[in-house]
Amino acid sequence: AWLALIFFHGLRTMQVLTTRFKKSKEQNKKLVKLNRFLSIQKNQFETMAKKDKLTGAWNRAGVRDLLESVLEEYKVNGTLCTLLALDVDHFKKINDEFGHDTGDRVLKGLVTLIDSYTRKKDHFARWGGEEFVLICPNTDIHAAKTLAEMLRRKIETAKLIEARKITCSFGVAELRDEEIDVWFKRADEALYSAKAAGRNVVEIA
Ligand code: GH3
Ligand code: MG
Ligand code: MG
Repeated sequence: AWLALIFFHGLRTMQVLTTRFKKSKEQNKKLVKLNRFLSIQKNQFETMAKKDKLTGAWNRAGVRDLLESVLEEYKVNGTLCTLLALDVDHFKKINDEFGHDTGDRVLKGLVTLIDSYTRKKDHFARWGGEEFVLICPNTDIHAAKTLAEMLRRKIETAKLIEARKITCSFGVAELRDEEIDVWFKRADEALYSAKAAGRNVVEIA
């Protein structure tokens, strides 16, 4: 009788443990699934935080790491990088004449256009309003000037809106032994010269 009791008790304990084990295995599966879902969501939120909402271009936060890495690459290996600053010409007039929504459409179209003519490693970022920067790693000033001229022509012939030719002015600066804000300031000054030269022009810093 004792042996039978011990046997059935052992059997019962095994059944309980097996059920518990199955349950915890299922729970584990659910947690793995949830974890995967949360990790995808986290990546999506992280990407969203680095992109401009209107145009889908990178925002300032989105290119911060890239800027640090190109500066480091330049200091350590002398790897070149060139910056194109561009600004839509007389954009205020577009808004005034055709409305803000049309202005928005121009900005979105511009981003799509630039993305289609640049490499994956080039980063096009909205710097504010109708001003953008294109960061071109492994690119010297000559190649960047050719690129800027090509983009300038593509923009003016693109018909971003039917009613009006849209143009952009460009300031181009190759990275030197300098801080990032000094590099950007040089590109911005070249852009300012392009505006002063009549717009729809590429100027080199
Ligand atoms: P310039 O050739 O000297 O650059 O002249 P501009 O008219 O382009 O420059 P300005 O700085 O006078 O005007 C920029 C305009 O861009 C004013 C602002 O309302 C408009 N703008 C800024 N952000 C947006 C946006 O997200 N959507 C639209 N539709 N307009 C914007
Ligand atoms: Mg402008
Ligand atoms: Mg501007």
